[in-house]
Amino acid sequence: MRNVLIVLSGPSGVGKGTIAKLLVERNKNLSLSISCTTRNPRDGEVDGREYFFITKDEFRKKIENDGFLEYSDHFENFYGTPKDFVLAKLKNNDVLLEIDVNGGLEVKKSYKDAVLIMVAPPSIEEVRNRLIKRNTETLEKINLRMERIGYELEKSDLYDYTVVNDKLDEAVENIEKIINQEKNKCK
Ligand code: 5GP
Repeated sequence: MRNVLIVLSGPSGVGKGTIAKLLVERNKNLSLSISCTTRNPRDGEVDGREYFFITKDEFRKKIENDGFLEYSDHFENFYGTPKDFVLAKLKNNDVLLEIDVNGGLEVKKSYKDAVLIMVAPPSIEEVRNRLIKRNTETLEKINLRMERIGYELEKSDLYDYTVVNDKLDEAVENIEKIINQEKNKCK
């Protein structure tokens, strides 16, 4: 069985963070990658756990040194997947990236065996409700994110799989089946 690089994407509020957490808890060989970001930590977030929080200058230097598998900007901050960190982890583990759709497509360009999985909401209203409940964003920011949802879901066609997060347990199980199937493929 090979170790696989799994990319999990989907609109904000679709529940992909919860799914990623459960996948990692339930599958000992699966390790969550940690992205770099220039945004400030939210309450309860720890440097080196949720993200590596770095300055814009540090981020620029890392871009110059080809240090990212992909990177992009959202809402005036940069986010990127550290290349060395992921490739080192892949030697011993399956690795899960929780990144946006453009990032996922970029990863596939440089790492063609990456498995791209889109998590889709059962309905758009459901996403809005989840974001409001999460209470970490202003309404203005939520509206910006809502605009992006249509765009992200349109790109599902370019992904290897789409999993609808209607019932959390079922979504997690479906993703586990995909991972096992991919691990058993000879490449
Ligand atoms: P948040 O600020 O809510 O943690 O994340 C904002 C957005 O950045 C989310 O859509 C999240 O998936 C995306 N994101 C997080 N890490 C990365 C990364 O390494 N690369 C890219 N391209 N997007 C990321």
